[in-house]
Amino acid sequence: MNELPPLGLLGGTFDPVHFGHLRLAEEALDRLGLAGVRLIPAGVPPHRERPHAAAAQRLAMAQAAAADNPRLEVDAAEAVSADPSYTVPTLERVRREIGPQRSLVLLLGADAFLGLTAWHRWRELFELAHLAVATRPGHVLDADAMESGLAVQFAVRVRHDVLALRETPAGCIVPFGITALDISATAIRAALHGGASARYLLPAAVLDYISRNRLYAPD
Ligand code: ATP
Repeated sequence: MNELPPLGLLGGTFDPVHFGHLRLAEEALDRLGLAGVRLIPAGVPPHRERPHAAAAQRLAMAQAAAADNPRLEVDAAEAVSADPSYTVPTLERVRREIGPQRSLVLLLGADAFLGLTAWHRWRELFELAHLAVATRPGHVLDADAMESGLAVQFAVRVRHDVLALRETPAGCIVPFGITALDISATAIRAALHGGASARYLLPAAVLDYISRNRLYAPD
């Protein structure tokens, strides 16, 4: 086993990045003993409508959000690519970079985990990384809420001890609790669109970027 602490990855549309994402990364760093977390804004997210902000803008907002935190970095590869942003090829790329031995931890909120079977080549995720699943208000990580294929993988792979993340480079599912913040990018876009304030839901630097670039503005 590699002695280097596990590396965390947090993918998302980040349309825009908000404190729900950032607390997830920050609490994962501490709770899971990660060396760092890479935020990976999707370029063309395959499972949802086209984002409101352009990939370059969502990348710039992620960079603004991470700028004052030395434990966060931003991986631009998906955002600058015209290909659909599938996670398996991203994990393969990071694996080539860090080698086969070091633990890699894909961070997900419970809602994203529950939708996993719709992901391209989803079963291969477990060969490439561990999955650490954070609590998110409104989503219960219960086998009854999972499709049967996912429930089977969950039953086989779930570990409630974070040390599991260091025993093998990939393959476990580790649920963990984080501060409940019922913040979503959808609600932030709706607030801004309706002319309401989104202050205290996301970093001031990101709000500045949004207002300078007139993103999510009222009609
Ligand atoms: P949208 O409302 O546009 O669907 P979102 O707020 O859910 O966006 P995403 O970019 O889709 O944000 O999420 C990226 C990742 O962060 C996902 O794994 C998601 O589960 C997780 N996440 C987002 N917000 C929270 C939150 N408030 N608490 C815990 N996890 C979150």
